[in-house]
Amino acid sequence: MKYRYCPICTNELKRVFLDGRERQGCESCGFIHYVNPSPAAAMVLFEKQDVLLVKRRFEPRSGFWSLPAGFIEADETPEQAAIREVKEETGLDVRINQLVDVHSGCHAMKKRIVLVVYWGEIEGGSLKAGDDALEALFFPIDNLPPEMAFNSHLKALEKTISLRSQLQGG
Ligand SMILES: [Zn+2]
Repeated sequence: MKYRYCPICTNELKRVFLDGRERQGCESCGFIHYVNPSPAAAMVLFEKQDVLLVKRRFEPRSGFWSLPAGFIEADETPEQAAIREVKEETGLDVRINQLVDVHSGCHAMKKRIVLVVYWGEIEGGSLKAGDDALEALFFPIDNLPPEMAFNSHLKALEKTISLRSQLQGG
């Protein structure tokens, strides 16, 4: 993404070379427009042999199933964001069990995302689809929706299923 004007002082931005990359910078106030990925958090939650998924209300990938997930706010840790997103999208109160995956990729709106995925445990609340979700449902892990919203979520889910079966088996 490019800016035309400096968001600090509204001077027109110029091309600058910094740290071996072309960036945009402001000659007036020194602002540099760093283009960074956006951090997001997701959570895998099991109930016996089922996993909790939400049907997305909004783009990208509206109408497809994903893990409960969302962007991390400026004042949140990834853990807090994951717990908040689960509450908002599914009504459930959860705690973090463990970190399972950090995935760096793109989503459908061409914005680069760094997704932090946790395995969590349900502690309370009652299941009800929230604002960002059309539905919130448990799916059998051997009968997931034919196409998930994001490949990164599917990969993280498969990793968590495998980790869980190793721990249960061992
Ligand atoms: Zn400026």
